[in-house]
Amino acid sequence: MALKPLIAANWKMNGNRELVSAATAALVALDSDVEVLICPPATLLTVFPAQRNFALGGQDVSAEPSGAYTGQLSGVLLQEAGASFCLVGHSERRQYQFESDTLIADKVAAAVAQGLTPVLCIGETLAERQQEKTEQVLAKQLAAVYASQPELLSKSVIAYEPIWAIGTGESATPEQAQQTHAFIRAELSRYDAEAATQLRILYGGSVNAANSAALFAQPDINGALVGGASLKPDEFVQICLSAKD
Ligand code: PEP
Repeated sequence: MALKPLIAANWKMNGNRELVSAATAALVALDSDVEVLICPPATLLTVFPAQRNFALGGQDVSAEPSGAYTGQLSGVLLQEAGASFCLVGHSERRQYQFESDTLIADKVAAAVAQGLTPVLCIGETLAERQQEKTEQVLAKQLAAVYASQPELLSKSVIAYEPIWAIGTGESATPEQAQQTHAFIRAELSRYDAEAATQLRILYGGSVNAANSAALFAQPDINGALVGGASLKPDEFVQICLSAKD
């Protein structure tokens, strides 16, 4: 893995002050070969100590910079709370909050404009994979963001998360994931060839301490977005350690 690996935790609507303390303490053991990111519920962002060896991120960001948008959080607010990244377009937001590709494109732009690194989440459903539409679906999700805004690519991270692998215990095989990551990189090179070679593409979907090393051994897998296993600090640290060359 030539690019510095990024191991990101998505706590979703889980966690509390105890988990903040436990995760912070467990991560002290890590050195700087791997970049680590925790995306907790936004209410916990300010609970993390200022002195820490990992970054923080939001799980979503508003497409708007400020104003009458009840319940939303702008990039500026997230940053003020300690975040330097944010997830955008997670499949659970696409599904439960009905987020469209157009809105997601606006959110990626807003994140960059407000100084956050967006982690754009893309992925196909099981039905789409079975119908051999994976590449078509991913190409559309990427085009929606980068075809008209190629300048955002060099400021982004991509997370490939096949929906059938999220929270199911059924990870993509390293070969399946590598094949799809290579496709994503090739597709993105149409928008900015240089940025596509430097871009980190994370794999997400039932990553755990038992399967992470084999995934990270693939040339186009530059880290992971970890859900369930990130709620267990010791296992999350094992995953981070397995990303070291
Ligand atoms: C996720 O929701 O981003 C995710 C990858 O979850 P899990 O690791 O639990 O499959």
